[in-house]
Amino acid sequence: MVTLCDRCGVREAKYLKASSGEKLCLNCLFNTIEDTVARTVRRFRLITSGDRVGIAVSGGKDSLVLMYLLGKLRRLGRIPKDTVLIAFSIDEGQPYSCVRRANSMDYVAKLTEEFNIEYKVFRFSELFGVTAFDIAQGLWGKGVNTHMCTICGVMRRRAMNIVGRMLNLTKIATGHNLDDEAQTVLLNVTGNDVKRFAWFGATPSNDVAEEEFIPRIKPLRFIREEEVALYAYYHGIPLMTIECPFVYNNPRYELKFTLARWERDNPNVKYSMVSFGDEVSKMVNERFKGQVKLNKCIHCGFPTSGSVCRVCELLKQAGLLERYINHIRPVNTQQGA
Ligand SMILES: [Zn+2]
Ligand SMILES: [Zn+2]
Repeated sequence: MVTLCDRCGVREAKYLKASSGEKLCLNCLFNTIEDTVARTVRRFRLITSGDRVGIAVSGGKDSLVLMYLLGKLRRLGRIPKDTVLIAFSIDEGQPYSCVRRANSMDYVAKLTEEFNIEYKVFRFSELFGVTAFDIAQGLWGKGVNTHMCTICGVMRRRAMNIVGRMLNLTKIATGHNLDDEAQTVLLNVTGNDVKRFAWFGATPSNDVAEEEFIPRIKPLRFIREEEVALYAYYHGIPLMTIECPFVYNNPRYELKFTLARWERDNPNVKYSMVSFGDEVSKMVNERFKGQVKLNKCIHCGFPTSGSVCRVCELLKQAGLLERYINHIRPVNTQQGA
């Protein structure tokens, strides 16, 4: 005997949506995913008419599903039809850079055509004059034990702002899903880092969030990772086959399992954590409103709350600051900065 879908009552149920107790067929599951994303965009005004939205494509399933969904929702008019979508990838320049591991570039090309989305690749070496690998070598050679994910993270955040300016973007959409967001809440809590919640939330405030010039939006933040994976699989979206070897001692990796355990007892735990994080984010932003004075980094000129920005701090430690400054100087002169 087959169990029928609780929504359509016609097709066979294949997925238990534990948070609501519904048994769904794949078709209805995919509809709920599309509805949730469209609703998230509307409710938090993530995309409004006239926006130029960059889609950060790492090559992983989340960013590809994001690109597919934004393309599809725009075509259906469920996000404003005049939204400009521009997908881009950043090559960090380490042997396991997301873009290099991705076997998905043919698929990206297909999406650009199907949904009329422009696509561009930017390299750390072009943007900074150094690669993530150079930075890692510099740091590790001096016994500074900075994690590759931190290096890629700090530099990628800056790269996105530079790319955003180059492409005149009003928003940058990333593929963060519910699991990523719940992990971030846990990391902020266990790291006793209340201020970091300023970056959290559906629409991060620019007030406290240093270096976040171009607002980031996360349309998939209420979709469980497992649901993103199912959506990807059944829509022919390729899954990344090689995992980044640096991920294993990334603190997030362990949290995945912790959260999965908690979810067994409380199917809503991830949703609860994200809504908790959103509330804390509002309070933190309210509390520090107007109090954060941004200075210009004494080396590169980018806004920072201290005197030296995170990027220059990292590059200085790695002995690469001069190379970076020499690389960006002609660009700054051209822009008249
Ligand atoms: Zn159904
Ligand atoms: Zn700097």
